[in-house]
Amino acid sequence: MKKLLCPQCKISSMYVKNAGGERRLVYVDENHNIVAKYPEEGLEGFNLTEVYCLGCSWHGSPKRLSSKYV
Ligand SMILES: [Zn+2]
Repeated sequence: MKKLLCPQCKISSMYVKNAGGERRLVYVDENHNIVAKYPEEGLEGFNLTEVYCLGCSWHGSPKRLSSKYV
């Protein structure tokens, strides 16, 4: 799997949130799919239309992630 990068700080570690404010660590793959870092946790109920960068203040649509890969 190729991972897309934050457009600001170029790391691949992102998270998503649910309505309760919980977080799940995710990556975004080259097809802009959100992939749970720990698949056993699941992403049901989480908002997958906005991802948050772990390394900086960037957040937004997964479609806006850099097309550069790690
Ligand atoms: Zn970042």
